[in-house]
Amino acid sequence: MDGRAAHIFNIQRFSVSDGPGTRTTVFFKGCNLRCKWCHNPESFVARPQIEINPDKCIGCGACLAVCPAGAHLVGEGSHSIDRTKCTGCGACADQCFAEALVLVGKTLSVEDIMAEILEDRLLYENSGGGVTFSGGECMLQPEALTELLKACKAEGLHTAVDTAGNVPTEYFEAVAPWTDLFLYDVKAGTPERHKALTGSDNRLITKNLSWLKENGAGILIRIPFIPGENDDTEELRAMAAILHQNGIHEAELLLYHRLGEGKYKALDMDYALNGKASPKKADAEEAVSIFREYGVRVKVM
Ligand code: SF4
Ligand code: SF4
Repeated sequence: MDGRAAHIFNIQRFSVSDGPGTRTTVFFKGCNLRCKWCHNPESFVARPQIEINPDKCIGCGACLAVCPAGAHLVGEGSHSIDRTKCTGCGACADQCFAEALVLVGKTLSVEDIMAEILEDRLLYENSGGGVTFSGGECMLQPEALTELLKACKAEGLHTAVDTAGNVPTEYFEAVAPWTDLFLYDVKAGTPERHKALTGSDNRLITKNLSWLKENGAGILIRIPFIPGENDDTEELRAMAAILHQNGIHEAELLLYHRLGEGKYKALDMDYALNGKASPKKADAEEAVSIFREYGVRVKVM
């Protein structure tokens, strides 16, 4: 792909949870982790995908007529998509006026993304906000990301990169000069648990965190708190030790929520944490005190 374009699935304006102030968050499509609790499953693969909501389908048949791949399967009261045939061309979604079909993902030029970002310049200035690049894993498109970060800095905007950190260190070397703040995930402490929860161990992630710290980057650590997955004493201590070893004294603990569950259904994907209840702030008290032992003040969100 041209370095001056990015695969994205959303540009969210007026965001207040992706860094300081009011921000625009650009969500990149494509990720090399598969966190069991991910609430953006549409971010997993870099190519466009169709989301289907059969409840909205009025059975007009327009999608069947237009699909060049013959991917739509319509039966008695049912409508599904053969994902092995679908090429993500989007022709069916264009014809679906009932909005039962939605194409998720597009490739946009750096110029087009910047034009949208700059619409809210005054809001950033008045709120102390800026622009956050997220995903998916935005660091997997380092050329486009670097171009966007440079363009933001040329406009005087505050920049943040939301990353899981599981990419070559050279990518951090490329983007760090243009990034004011890294929103950096710590999802588990031991390599074994990290692999079980996300599909990859955390050795590279921990190495990159140390590189960022040694090179003076702005870092905000974010730890997902997932009951029954990463909230046992051993894991909490291992995560706290990583932060302590890197001289990091503050972090956010993000309580698990199930907001993305419906998206799995729309993409014909299984949700690994089906039925898991969301924790309350009080459930995180032990975690907060363990991190405190390691000199890390944790804010529960
Ligand atoms: S175009 Fe939309 S409403 Fe019509 S059959 Fe296809 S999915 Fe259903
Ligand atoms: S996105 Fe294209 S290939 Fe996929 S189901 Fe729709 S029309 Fe067919």
